[in-house]
Amino acid sequence: MVSRVIPVDAFDLVIFGGTGDLARRKILPGLFRRFLSGQMTEDSRIIGAARSDMDADGFRQLVRDAIAEFGGAESKEAEAIDKFAARLDYVSIDAKGEGGWSDLAGKVRDGVVKAFYFSVAPSLFGDLAERLHLHHIADAESRIVVEKPFGRDLESARALNQSLAEHFQESQIYRIDHYLGKETVQNLMAIRFGNVLFEPLWNNHYVDHIQITVAETVGVGGRGSYYDKAGAMRDMVQNHLMQLLCLIAMEPPNKFEADEVRTEKLKVIRALQPVDHHHIVRGQYDKDGDEPSYREDAENPRSFTESFVAMKVGIDNWRWAGVPFYMRTGKKLKSRASEIAVVFKDLGHSIFEGDEARHRNILAIRLQPNEGIDLQVTIKEPGPGGMRLIDVPLDMTFSEALQLEADEAPDAYERLIMDVIRGNQTLFMRGDEVEAAWAWTDPIINGWEARNDVPKLYDQGSAGPDDALMLMHRDGRRWRDIKG
Ligand code: NAP
Repeated sequence: MVSRVIPVDAFDLVIFGGTGDLARRKILPGLFRRFLSGQMTEDSRIIGAARSDMDADGFRQLVRDAIAEFGGAESKEAEAIDKFAARLDYVSIDAKGEGGWSDLAGKVRDGVVKAFYFSVAPSLFGDLAERLHLHHIADAESRIVVEKPFGRDLESARALNQSLAEHFQESQIYRIDHYLGKETVQNLMAIRFGNVLFEPLWNNHYVDHIQITVAETVGVGGRGSYYDKAGAMRDMVQNHLMQLLCLIAMEPPNKFEADEVRTEKLKVIRALQPVDHHHIVRGQYDKDGDEPSYREDAENPRSFTESFVAMKVGIDNWRWAGVPFYMRTGKKLKSRASEIAVVFKDLGHSIFEGDEARHRNILAIRLQPNEGIDLQVTIKEPGPGGMRLIDVPLDMTFSEALQLEADEAPDAYERLIMDVIRGNQTLFMRGDEVEAAWAWTDPIINGWEARNDVPKLYDQGSAGPDDALMLMHRDGRRWRDIKG
């Protein structure tokens, strides 16, 4: 099936940090794919901006190299790459200085959508916002896109929000959480609010518990110095896992519109119970033969930063009272796998006996790999020998069910950038949401710091520290296998 492509309005997109890692790996190859699909019209332009001294041709070469390295199959489309390159320009600019700004002002056109992607360190966000305003480059219709991390605690997130709010309205600010751009994550809303089947069951009468897992096989090598100051709680839970939890737990919004959806997510965050420290497990991956330990990767022999966290969280509202949400994320685990599993309760009364009575429905939403949905249902095991029951998955892998060509579905960054151009903020975090998430996370992190909490070591290639398994065993439950 070829997905329907609706072209967006003509735009000028300025990428501050256009020479950086994120721009080369994700943003620029993603924009090329949208260009190839016909979604980015030929009169749109992309302007790279960074301090490096280069001209437009130098930037075009950088983009060609980025597409060759990170672009996948479309890197072979030489003719289209030439056409795309003709839409690229570059300005050498310093976010903290005055050089380059009048040059940029001369390049950004009126009469098209103006978007400014801040793909630079968050410490530069305020400077960029101020200079875009001072040099009259941005107007009341312009959009700015800001990357994570959005602060490292409530205080710094508030300060960032304030520095952006001095020059931009909330309706102009797009805070990226690329998890929200994933096809399956959006499908979560389609499944919940587009089917009559699930919503009646989506509450504490029928749901026993929910598991959210984001497992990675990679370590922190390469990003060690950043990661060591953040840890899994700041890097993954405060943003990505929290967003997944919100989409699972929120009330149906009145409409599928940005503020309606974001207000419902905010209510979930505000209803989260504070987490008792007995309900959280922190871990750090150990050395494994020649494979370095976390501390070696982070180049900090005394680091107490967690590369794994698992927790049990409760939500204080009518729908979810008494239903635990178990979340875990970590590095150097056994597989790269992310999923949300809604585990339904046992039948009120089973007509089957013994083991045959112990079957449960589970709805698993796979984010990666093989994005899809899998509903575990109980059936009779085929053949003679009485009524033996087995659980089988009703499995829908999107690429198979929808017969998508390899790489056809836009990746999260592409989709989100196109939403910026369309002016659709539904999949971006609002300032109050981010602050509420930090307000919930801060006491947990502060508690660890106050207690000098030492993370438990875990084996590389495992499912995390044993204490994380105990977190569920104590409740008579167990984690689903992490299958990549
Ligand atoms: P990076 O590789 O260090 O790139 C930083 C970019 O900013 C470069 O283009 C650099 O170019 C430019 N820059 C630095 N100082 C500048 C200044 N004073 N004025 C103008 N431009 C300046 O960083 P990155 O990994 O791309 O990350 C960019 C942002 O995305 C960060 O906020 C990061 O947290 C976030 N992020 C990155 C990833 C990722 O996978 N890389 C994932 C999620 C979020 P010059 O040195 O030439 O100025």
